[in-house]
Amino acid sequence: MYKTLRLIAVLALVAVWAIVIRMWTTRQTLPPSAPAVTSGQSGTRLVMGTFANVTAVARDQDTITRAVTAAHDELDAVDDMMSDYKPDSELTLVNREAFDRPVPVSEPLFEVLQASLEYSIISEGAFDVTIGPVVQLWRDMQKQNSRPTDQQLAEARQKVGYRHLILDAENRTVRFARPGMKLDLGAIAKGYAIDRAIDAMKAAGAAGGLVDVGGDIRCFGLSPKLTNTWRIGLDDPDGDGDILLVLNLTDIAVATSGDYRRFVVIDDQRFSHIINPSTTASARDLTSVTIIAPTAMQADALATVVSVMGHEKGLALIESVDNTEAILIPAADPALFIKTKGADDYIR
Ligand code: AMP
Ligand code: MG
Repeated sequence: MYKTLRLIAVLALVAVWAIVIRMWTTRQTLPPSAPAVTSGQSGTRLVMGTFANVTAVARDQDTITRAVTAAHDELDAVDDMMSDYKPDSELTLVNREAFDRPVPVSEPLFEVLQASLEYSIISEGAFDVTIGPVVQLWRDMQKQNSRPTDQQLAEARQKVGYRHLILDAENRTVRFARPGMKLDLGAIAKGYAIDRAIDAMKAAGAAGGLVDVGGDIRCFGLSPKLTNTWRIGLDDPDGDGDILLVLNLTDIAVATSGDYRRFVVIDDQRFSHIINPSTTASARDLTSVTIIAPTAMQADALATVVSVMGHEKGLALIESVDNTEAILIPAADPALFIKTKGADDYIR
């Protein structure tokens, strides 16, 4: 009896101590004069063919409104520039004219194209923004509910190749070395837009914020709970709405690619929207690829890279990139997580 009482007393003491430590660590994350910090959300808006949500934390409602508006303005601006669906986007102009003449482009578009070529090089061509003709072929065939023939795929492949994309940094122009080439920034523009939105929120004076575009996310500063950690749930690819796992993120980005997010359906068969440029087949090895990286552009591009490279080569590549982690789910065994060595540091 005495032993049981003593055990209860010790447990109670430990619990109180844990609460005190928790309160103390929470207080440590607050800015010097904390009381007026508050948070607000934008509500869901459509951008880049998916849903965007912005959360801002600031001392007053005006700053929150300014930060959220600035973030959405940036997302819209990048969409207007880099969409291959919009007939008047800068990207569409490049796609139309860059074989006939070097097309002068804006700094943001040039920056994203330069980054894209770097991802092509480190991934040995698994990432390729000139994949447009093949992506377009799969989209067209979906409308007709038939699979592209080998000949159609071979023809489209003739028009693909990052080595035929000529960027002139001095004159900031883009040129295609082959006819019929077509850029597709679907694997990287979303991440770039999120980074720009985060910068805009900081400039607007937010103490913290999170930008979520279709599940690709970057956060900074204080969360609505007034700690420096944002807790982000990752969806279960099986589509039942469950949260697979929770990530604790501080000033960092996370992006997920996978055949469960976007895909093409032909004859009731699902094909990933991610294409292996060397075979023109849709990527198959991984159901879900989640990348944690310092910027959303890095996370977005690398998630697509690893989807194409498959788990062995992809995991080795991410292990070699500083401050970057991967959590993969193989198609062959959806109950399995394959992780880089440091990934557990982010998992609750
Ligand atoms: P994400 O969801 O970020 O993996 O991007 C997928 C999108 O990137 C696709 O819908 C295509 O528009 C484009 N894409 C497909 N395959 C590739 C590839 N191998 N390299 C670059 N972009 C690709
Ligand atoms: Mg991507």
